[in-house]
Amino acid sequence: MSSLSITGVTKSFGTGPTATRAVDDVTLHVPHGSFTTVLGPSGCGKTTLLRLIAGFLVPDAGSIAFGDTTVAGDGVRPVPPQARHVGYVPQEGALFPHLDVAANIAFGLPGHARAGREGRERVAEMLDLVELPAHFADRRPDELSGGQQQRVALARSLAPQPAVVLLDEPFSSLDASLRGTTAIAVRRALAATGTTALLVTHDQNEALSLADQVAVMRGGRLVQSAPPAEVYLSPSDPQVAEFVGRAVVLPGTATDARATCALGEVVLSEAATGPVALMIRPEQVYVDLTHAEGVRGSVEEVSYYGHDCAVQVRLDDGTSVLARMAGVRHPVAGDTVHLRVTGLVRAYRPAGAP
Ligand code: ADP
Ligand code: MG
Repeated sequence: MSSLSITGVTKSFGTGPTATRAVDDVTLHVPHGSFTTVLGPSGCGKTTLLRLIAGFLVPDAGSIAFGDTTVAGDGVRPVPPQARHVGYVPQEGALFPHLDVAANIAFGLPGHARAGREGRERVAEMLDLVELPAHFADRRPDELSGGQQQRVALARSLAPQPAVVLLDEPFSSLDASLRGTTAIAVRRALAATGTTALLVTHDQNEALSLADQVAVMRGGRLVQSAPPAEVYLSPSDPQVAEFVGRAVVLPGTATDARATCALGEVVLSEAATGPVALMIRPEQVYVDLTHAEGVRGSVEEVSYYGHDCAVQVRLDDGTSVLARMAGVRHPVAGDTVHLRVTGLVRAYRPAGAP
């Protein structure tokens, strides 16, 4: 196991006016034994970043190091993929269909360890680690569910005790109910082995719930890397706020620790002055059904999820605001409600301001 350091890494495809800068000056540190998720929309450069780390691509600029060992950049000859001791779990279709589970898991072990007692013990240990029964060793991949196949893929990547494990949207082909349980099993297995891991995903729930650190990517660039709660509560800009969860972004005017906006007066997390863009999470918008306290509006739409519901409200001034409230007692479309903002609000310099 080792830490992973990516410093100023850039990679373009093609040349001239049609060139795509898939990864643009990315700097990221994944501490030894920790779990980082990279969150970004499709096409933002996530897979390219993993392929650079694994050694399938060579950066145009910047460097990549595992612990103190530079594997690419800084004038060193790029270390080939097989010598990097990286475990790679691709999106899907990761397993060799003609090999049974045991042979798949043992695939990356040194030749002498692949067969015999040592290999069988390692396979059993890995199945246990990913919470699959021992008798699955004899099954073929097509006799497993999608979630079980992804657990085997993780077991195969961990069997040779890699320095770093890279997971490329490993749960995206699974249906919602399997996704959660598979993700938790994967996190447990990584934690139990103390493996340094980088998982890329476009799913914000996955990114926030699994990792110690979330790195948000946009258009090839890394725009923020921080613990999950910090990314959610203090996104580096309103676009990150809207990508990581839902956000109500309203123009306002700040004076020290307060600001006024369409939702009335709000308290800021940090003092600001003048025109600002205010970022309010929908669960911070309190929907008052009985008292006429707060800013009046009319309910346009309610989406009921059971544990809670999302309420779209049109304020009297025309502003549209999303509120999230417990599902026990909720309004219906056409109701008049009053809204207030609770908790601290993050203020940003408005777009286009100097
Ligand atoms: P993601 O995994 O976030 O969806 P990718 O890393 O696959 O994004 O792609 C990032 C960008 O680089 C995209 O615009 C994609 O079309 C481009 N790209 C990726 N691989 C290649 C390649 N081998 N040749 C040319 N363009 C590529
Ligand atoms: Mg991808």
